[in-house]
Amino acid sequence: MNISAEELVALAGTIKNTPGAYKCEYCKKDFKREGTMLAHSCEKKRRWQQKDDKETLAGFSAFDLFYRISMGSKGKEYKDFVDSQYYTAFIKYGNWCYNSHVIDIEAYTRWLINKEAKLRDWPSERFYLLFVKDFVKRESVERALERFVEHAVNTGYFEQFWERASGYLIADWVEGGKISPWIIICSERAQAALVNMPSECFDRIANCIDADYWGNKRTMNPKDAYFVEEMIDGTRF
Ligand SMILES: [Zn+2]
Repeated sequence: MNISAEELVALAGTIKNTPGAYKCEYCKKDFKREGTMLAHSCEKKRRWQQKDDKETLAGFSAFDLFYRISMGSKGKEYKDFVDSQYYTAFIKYGNWCYNSHVIDIEAYTRWLINKEAKLRDWPSERFYLLFVKDFVKRESVERALERFVEHAVNTGYFEQFWERASGYLIADWVEGGKISPWIIICSERAQAALVNMPSECFDRIANCIDADYWGNKRTMNPKDAYFVEEMIDGTRF
């Protein structure tokens, strides 16, 4: 079989242009057509495309914080995250934080790292309740009230929150940290709501408030206690 010089050049040209003409920059796979390459989906590409999602950002921040605090390493880049074997676990954590309305994701992450909790246990209700119990003791009374107001205005019945919210909602909010024990121990409206709610809700609230600690805190900080009363119950004559 005789091939002319011209034919050889043409053949070489087509070979050069077909396989591997387009390479996916994420998985390095070769594609004949640009369209197919652009349309294909691979794990790495997906990880990069989700880079700016808030859940991904939460997972990445936790990954970065974990390496900085427990490994003493310098800040991580997103590329390190995409290539990490822990990517999926941290993403799961970021999603969980948003779905569970974690009140302060960075504070919760730092708490988990300090407790040396295993990564697979980070998205856990049990740990989160312990964290909240601890966190509410350390924040200022102003921040505690501010957070309650931020959430309560979204209910659409802020003015009558304590009269209208169900015992289940109040119990959820106390457990999740949206309602600080400051309010429960200082507000008469909150206490009236406790008396009227189903006992299972009352029990849940009682279980997540360290009564001795908070009773003592109220006695030692009368100004803070008065501030809560004034803000939640209003001034009475
Ligand atoms: Zn790819």
